[in-house]
Amino acid sequence: MKLRIGHGYDTHRLEAGEGVHLGGVFIPCAYRVIAHSDGDAIIHALCDALLGAIAGGDIGKLFPDSDPQFKGIDSRKLLEEVMRRVRAAGYAVVNADVSLIAQAPRVSAHTEAMREQLAAGLGVDVGCVNVKATTNEGMDAIGHKQGLAAHAVVLLQGA
Ligand code: MG
Repeated sequence: MKLRIGHGYDTHRLEAGEGVHLGGVFIPCAYRVIAHSDGDAIIHALCDALLGAIAGGDIGKLFPDSDPQFKGIDSRKLLEEVMRRVRAAGYAVVNADVSLIAQAPRVSAHTEAMREQLAAGLGVDVGCVNVKATTNEGMDAIGHKQGLAAHAVVLLQGA
C-alpha cells in the first residue's frame, strides 16, 4: 500500500470585527482575520498538509494573494481544488488531524461542525477527522489575541 504523510501550518493576524471563518464554519466573535481570502487558517493548514503529502508545493504558490480572483474566497473552494490535485495524483485521504492555537475565539462549541465540513471536503467519514483547540496560555502574540495559528497532519493512501 502506498502511504504519504503531510504537515501544514498557517497563521493569521486578528483585528476587531464580527467573526472568523475556521474549519469551514463562521464563528461570530469580536474579531476578524486579516487575510486576502476568508482567512480560514485551519483549511489553509489542511491544504498545505495535503499538498505536502503529494509533493505539490503550497497554497501560496497555487493561490497567490496578489491574484484578485482569490480575494475574499471561501477557503472550502481552495480545499476543493487541492483535493482535485490529490485525486489526480492517485491518492485518497485516510485521516486528518488539526490543532488550532487561539486565545480567541473559543471554538469548542464549533469543533463538531468543523469536523463535518472538513470531512465533506476531504471525502472521508467524520470519524476520520479530528479538530483540537488550545489557547496559548496568554503568552506571545496569539496569547494576546493578536493572531491565531493552525497545524494539520494528513495521511493519504494510494487510491
Ligand atoms: Mg492562510
